[in-house]
Amino acid sequence: MTKPMTDTVAVIGAGQMGSGIAQTVAMHGTQVLLADVDLATAQASVAGIDAALGKLVGRGKLEIADAEATLARITPVGDYAPMAEAKLIIEAATEREQIKQAIFEKAGKVLGAEAILASNTSSIPITRMANFSPDPERFIGLHFFNPVPVMKLIEVIPGLATSEATTQATVAFAEGLGKEVVLSQDEPGFVVNRILLPMINEAVFLLGQATAGIADIDKGCRLGLNHPMGPLQLADFVGLDTCLDILMVLYKTTRDSKYRPAPLLVKYVEAGWLGRKTGRGFYDYTGEEPVPTR
Ligand code: NAD
Repeated sequence: MTKPMTDTVAVIGAGQMGSGIAQTVAMHGTQVLLADVDLATAQASVAGIDAALGKLVGRGKLEIADAEATLARITPVGDYAPMAEAKLIIEAATEREQIKQAIFEKAGKVLGAEAILASNTSSIPITRMANFSPDPERFIGLHFFNPVPVMKLIEVIPGLATSEATTQATVAFAEGLGKEVVLSQDEPGFVVNRILLPMINEAVFLLGQATAGIADIDKGCRLGLNHPMGPLQLADFVGLDTCLDILMVLYKTTRDSKYRPAPLLVKYVEAGWLGRKTGRGFYDYTGEEPVPTR
């Protein structure tokens, strides 16, 4: 395994993805600074990572000492100043360009002279966001998959101005986490989401027009396509707000009507039914087993 290139990695945005990235990087022996909108949110995220590590220990997949050492490597922070020592800053905040722009402008003020600024965006063009950073040559897309500790893939997306050295260092970092890398050009949705989101959207159209219920749509894809999880449950895992945000980026960037979001997806997001993270999406997650809601 290649050694990770950095001694300290900062992660900004400590939701599903940011906490998974922080956990994975720390499990590979690297110090992590974890930030969110404020210190309390970052601290709550570290508590969540503690619980996730506890589950791994409970299942016999991790030694207690390794769980403790992993947790000790993650420091929640309330401002960006300590990130000056990070060789890599990974942004993993909400999929909104304005939010990310504000983060890059703040992070850019502390970014070390040779450090790399990366975005875990699912769909927003890297070349465009590179302009919000102090040095577009050291800006890159680093797209993890959910749940980060489990999923083997990372997409690496150089923007037009990204240097070859930045791309190589980022690929080495990703491989150092034990992941496989797919390099993608900077096109909307990159490779995997360009395929996945239209599939999820189509499943929601089918549900909205009552062609089949949730259980049958997902069963059809599990048994008919050999997918481990149906598209509606996968959408719940991604987060329905994130799915909608990605579709809107695809739609607005390409102006191709095939990416228009299914009306029912918009309704679920308006209702605050965002998937597993809120306890309800297409399935209800409040009991032992997920239960289809339609
Ligand atoms: P999430 O809703 O779980 O977490 C987003 C986090 O960003 C929240 O904790 C929020 O408080 C934080 N945040 C919002 N504004 C912020 C700010 N100004 N500064 C710091 N933190 C801020 O979302 P997520 O699923 O973790 O997605 C995060 C990013 O990862 C998005 O760009 C998304 O497209 C991408 N992504 C998501 C998935 C997935 O399956 N969910 C997979 C790959 C990539």
